[in-house]
Amino acid sequence: MKEEMPYKLQLTEKEIPTQWYNVRADMKEKPAPLVNPATGKAATLEELSQVFCEELAKQELDNDTAYVDIPGEILDFYKMYRPSPLVRAYCLEKKLDTPAHIFYKFEGNNTSGSHKLNSAIAQAFYAKAQGLKGVTTETGAGQWGTALSMACAYLGLECDVFMVKCSYEQKPFRREVMRTFGANVTPSPSDKTAVGRKILQEFPGTTGSLGCAISEAVESAVTREGRRYVLGSVLNQVLLHQSVIGLETKTALDKYGVKADVIIGCAGGGSNLGGLISPFVGQMLRGEANYQIIAIEPASCPSFTRGVYAYDFCDTGRICPLAKMYTLGSSFMPSAIHAGGLRFHGMSTILSELYHQHLIEARTVRQTEVFQAAEDFARCEGILPAPESSHAIKAAIDEALRCKESGESKNIVFGLTGTGYFDLVAYQKFNDHDLTDYIPSEEEIAASIAKLPKI
Ligand SMILES: *Cc1c(COP(=O)(O)O)cnc(C)c1O
Repeated sequence: MKEEMPYKLQLTEKEIPTQWYNVRADMKEKPAPLVNPATGKAATLEELSQVFCEELAKQELDNDTAYVDIPGEILDFYKMYRPSPLVRAYCLEKKLDTPAHIFYKFEGNNTSGSHKLNSAIAQAFYAKAQGLKGVTTETGAGQWGTALSMACAYLGLECDVFMVKCSYEQKPFRREVMRTFGANVTPSPSDKTAVGRKILQEFPGTTGSLGCAISEAVESAVTREGRRYVLGSVLNQVLLHQSVIGLETKTALDKYGVKADVIIGCAGGGSNLGGLISPFVGQMLRGEANYQIIAIEPASCPSFTRGVYAYDFCDTGRICPLAKMYTLGSSFMPSAIHAGGLRFHGMSTILSELYHQHLIEARTVRQTEVFQAAEDFARCEGILPAPESSHAIKAAIDEALRCKESGESKNIVFGLTGTGYFDLVAYQKFNDHDLTDYIPSEEEIAASIAKLPKI
């Protein structure tokens, strides 16, 4: 490693990747295809194109093309906020007194405050290119809806957002950002859709979940003219777009002569982690290098660590295609933790297959220890992290402390996916010692897994 490493492993605008990387191309065992619940067969391009934009449906199904050109208009948009910083966490290292070197890739440096903008602009671009009027989506914590509304405003598209009710209530300011960017925002479950009305009847008083909101957004997209549904995580296409994170990270590490040992990311639907690790996993799959890759999930919604690998619905309303993934069951209702973006019962099929092949591992962390890590990080690195991102911080700190015990100076790289300015109600609870941990019981998980579709 070079002697004097700067705080920021800087890249120039020219070093922003001009192609996304599709890790599926290098996987021998491909992720399982989406299945149409009506036919029981792999979903076709034609079927997917009724829900998604056609080009995105093609990307969803493409297991073979390794590199996909990033259209010029998307690249121009990327240049407004990319390359994102890869920062050496000198202050955190010092505070932990660890021989480990810690690096974080910070995706919160844009107004939407998270990595979700990387895919939002791509999805909005393809919708516009297809001549659509607008797109419909759900949002959990609000980051995806914010990112999409920014992208739609930029391209002149309409944007309808179903927002998980607990976030809608916890984060009124998020809603106002979205409205400022021109989006229509509805708390979910709502009575605007048939599936929303059904969920409200079954679970009165529910604070909602990503799964519910997805069902509503899909229904709203397919029942109206000139609309398609877009999704901020889980799907293959989203991981493809998010590969820009990993490609930049790898370019910067290579430029400064750093070989990562451990790569850590939080896992909700898997898009930031999938994007961050894709180029590194590609090397592992091609036998060129080895890394320890760790997915971090909340103890309250432990899809990898306590779920099963099976076909399941992506949404509570059971109207979306089935995906083979690590899942807690689509009827699993996660507790209202403050990392809204991690409250999803399933996981990306790509990451699920990589986990199944033992190429990545997974750990859980509890909400209270996550906020403690967030506070420690904020005080020395000067960034107020999103609660989701703080799951990765917690794990990176643990890893660095392990290095302190063993005396190893590993290079730890983690994804800092966003900022927490709209999560201050959660921070307030933490500061007032009002935060609690909720860990679902075996019975609770078993009950929802028992309801998996038989396929
Ligand atoms: C949405 C979100 C996540 C989790 O989603 P993934 O698809 O798993 O990346 C993590 N961090 C932030 C800040 C988010 O907005």
